[in-house]
Amino acid sequence: MLHSRGKPKFHELLLCECIFLFVISVSCTPPAEPVECSTEDLNCTITNSYGMFPDRAICRAGNVAYPKTEQELVSVVSAATQARRKMKVVTRFSHSIPKLVCPDGQDGLLISTKYLNQVVKTDETEMTMTVESGVTLRQLINEAAKVGLALPYAPYWWGLTIGGLLGTGAHGSSLWGKGSSVHDHVVEMRIVSPAGADEGYAKVRVLTERDEDLDAAKVSLGVLGVISQVTFKLQPLFKRSITYVTKDDNDLGDEAVTFGKLHEFADIIWYPSQRKAVYRIDDRVSTNASDNGLYDFLPFRSTPTKALELNRYTEEILEYFRDANWKCRVAELIVSELQKAAYGLTNNGVNFYELSGNWISQPSPIIGNLPRQSRRLTDHRVRLGSKNQGRVLPPNHILH
Ligand SMILES: Cc1cc2nc3c(=O)[nH]c(=O)nc-3n(C[C@H](O)[C@H](O)[C@H](O)COP(=O)(O)OP(=O)(O)OC[C@H]3O[C@@H](n4cnc5c(N)ncnc54)[C@H](O)[C@@H]3O)c2cc1C
Repeated sequence: MLHSRGKPKFHELLLCECIFLFVISVSCTPPAEPVECSTEDLNCTITNSYGMFPDRAICRAGNVAYPKTEQELVSVVSAATQARRKMKVVTRFSHSIPKLVCPDGQDGLLISTKYLNQVVKTDETEMTMTVESGVTLRQLINEAAKVGLALPYAPYWWGLTIGGLLGTGAHGSSLWGKGSSVHDHVVEMRIVSPAGADEGYAKVRVLTERDEDLDAAKVSLGVLGVISQVTFKLQPLFKRSITYVTKDDNDLGDEAVTFGKLHEFADIIWYPSQRKAVYRIDDRVSTNASDNGLYDFLPFRSTPTKALELNRYTEEILEYFRDANWKCRVAELIVSELQKAAYGLTNNGVNFYELSGNWISQPSPIIGNLPRQSRRLTDHRVRLGSKNQGRVLPPNHILH
């Protein structure tokens, strides 16, 4: 550990910081709206949900429009095209880190999908669902589950909009079939784009699987028009079985592809500095599997502001002291705490039972296909294990 005469020691500073932060009250606030305007919907600034783009700039826009229907959306695009204005689509979250959302110049128009947030149509026989582009992944998954359907592959977090996650090619984790990109399950899109005067300055293009333009429109970073509605081809609802296994990373390069081919939702977290790899053995199982668990992935839960501040101060103190050993220890602590907390897996939505070798059978199965932030599990063959420690941690969970 680094010591220098006269300077407070690192752990003393850290301790003071902790005490200070814990005695003052703990508070949480959701992130601010990404768009702020000085007068109603005029003279606006736009940022992302972190409040900061990589170059620390804040973008400006002339105004923001909030269409509530496709017809209103067409009117907005038509008026802006006629006035030769630049447009960008903004979601209610704006989670992307780069400045994708900034209109070129200060007079641009932001078109928000905040109120384009309805499920339009569900066809249970065809197993399709049509949603407006401002619908969240969470909404889509929950609404599909109500009629026994599932979006098989999804990003690890469900607080994203359909338009935003398609625009950036978002995906989950799978080497099976077409892979894990959400856009591979899109069968139709309605996209509103500028047009000539003869077409009223805006038009709705309907792209189906038969149109080769669909592939471009799906992952367009928002530059080909405003996605109005998206139709997904879904699958029958299923459950998932999860086992975490921690191993050293000696053979990671050879193992990765084999492992990915073996398990439909295989996933690996690699900690190079700790020479460890955490393999998530994750497979589809029948909805008949019993039991009920929940996967509420710890790093995606809301975090008290003070905890975030503490985290940041700790980082800064470690940087100040240039103390690599402590940085490594903090990293090890985080990884071991994550493992102890079973990454957010619980048997019943509350508790995670750590057992050695025994399986617990849980009643009341819940069926669904929820994303990783808050996902119901049923209790079936999901366990945490560490080959290094030679122990099987807990019981069986299944996601759905
Ligand atoms: C906690 C967290 C976890 C994540 N996990 C994953 C993951 O597992 N896998 C993964 O691939 N990604 C992941 N991401 C990244 C995420 O998928 C992208 O940042 C996504 O674009 C964010 O969606 P959003 O709704 O906030 O879109 P925004 O960031 O607001 O928009 C993204 C882009 O799409 C455009 N756009 C949005 N809606 C429309 C529309 N209707 N028509 C035309 N253009 C539109 C915007 O103009 C912008 O250019 C994660 C992000 C976070 C914050």
